[in-house]
Amino acid sequence: MSRQYDEHHRSVMVHEALLYLLGGRVDGTYVDCTAGEGGHMKAILEATNGRARIIGLDVDREVLDIAEQNLEDYRGSYELFNLSYVDFEIVLKQAGIDKVDGFLLDVGLSTFQLKSKGRGFSYELDEPLDMRMNLSLKTTAAEVVNGYKESELARIVFEYGDEKRFARKIARSIVSRRPLYTTKDLHDAVKAAIPPAERYKRKRHFATRTFQAIRIEVNQELENIDSTLKRIPGFLKQGGRIVIISFHSLEDGIAKRVFREKSNSELKILTKKPLRPSEEEVELNLRARSARLRAAERI
Ligand code: SAH
Repeated sequence: MSRQYDEHHRSVMVHEALLYLLGGRVDGTYVDCTAGEGGHMKAILEATNGRARIIGLDVDREVLDIAEQNLEDYRGSYELFNLSYVDFEIVLKQAGIDKVDGFLLDVGLSTFQLKSKGRGFSYELDEPLDMRMNLSLKTTAAEVVNGYKESELARIVFEYGDEKRFARKIARSIVSRRPLYTTKDLHDAVKAAIPPAERYKRKRHFATRTFQAIRIEVNQELENIDSTLKRIPGFLKQGGRIVIISFHSLEDGIAKRVFREKSNSELKILTKKPLRPSEEEVELNLRARSARLRAAERI
């Protein structure tokens, strides 16, 4: 089968996510913390013949319009909220829901966000350095690259970008070029820090890791995952499931740690090791490449 690079989001590890989230249930109430384009939500609704009720959250208002279209056939079985999953309790309270059968988190960026113009997520477009998923956040990518200390930038690129060899050079290059205004400025700063022979040795574009690192910092992604995962077990019915799909070893590490901390008291871990997508899926969907899925059950 040939690769497809269509601009629509392809949901990642759908089969595995449903297997663990539903655990054989044919109905139930679920929270999709990262509704995105509604792909996983639609799959849950299809698998349960519309009998599931789903609360979908997403910080990105634009992406929710697309979800609304994709879920047209299931009106009445779901509700979408333009809110961070960090605030999931607010929505449950408003909806009068005490406990649910499952939480799904598919963290990271949707293809829609990566490709959509004006958001500054991609080094392929020349745009202002924004990178906020939630436009009410205060700090933009421009503020991070222009305002943080060099050592702090180096740490972020090293840790969040997994950019082990060149993090300090990249930070120095960024600082020497200040102020940076656009994604192209950031792309060029990274380029100047990585020797030509190294740039094209990599599987991914040389700027990918730095862009990812700055995005994680702007959106406080790791803190959000940590604080949310810790609170979720309190809102799961006995036997209820939590499934997290992540795309970064630090995110997966957080899920692993929180599940461990809560095992024996609140959670039973269902995936000793994280599940990975099949080769077929990776072939079809590049975004799946680095996906890892972990699941746990409320005891
Ligand atoms: N599962 C979806 C795709 C999700 S992509 C599908 O199958 O269609 C990841 C989504 O998480 C993005 O739309 C992004 O806006 C959202 N997101 C990122 N951080 C978030 C947060 N803190 N709260 C809610 N949504 C968030």
